[in-house]
Amino acid sequence: MKQTRGPSDTVFGDLCGVFRLLELRGEYESFIVDLESELAFLRHIAECKLCGEEAKTMVNREGGNDSWWSNLFSGMLPEILGEEQASVEPCPRLDDYGDLEAFIAARVGWRIRRVEGIRGDAEIELMDLKDRLNGG
Ligand SMILES: [Zn+2]
Repeated sequence: MKQTRGPSDTVFGDLCGVFRLLELRGEYESFIVDLESELAFLRHIAECKLCGEEAKTMVNREGGNDSWWSNLFSGMLPEILGEEQASVEPCPRLDDYGDLEAFIAARVGWRIRRVEGIRGDAEIELMDLKDRLNGG
């Protein structure tokens, strides 16, 4: 667990706007770090034979010990992410691909584009927070 910064939603954050902005800045910064980690995993899976083989065993294996892995290739992923809306690029479904490797490549590519989009939005929010903290 990360214990390097104060907990969010502190009493100070309720009282002081600047403290709240500092809390939010910390949340966005660690969120972006997490997204970078996920992107590194995803890009690695796409190019590693060993992990590609492991990914095949994860397809539609619900309820595994590793929720990130089992969710990534789950048929329920868009629902899990709360992204079943039509506004986003449709999540590749196993049924649409005859080939397991093609499905995995499509699913990983889809997730990479989503995470890059989320990271981009978070970076814009973070820049806005920094501007506000600098009195902009
Ligand atoms: Zn690997």
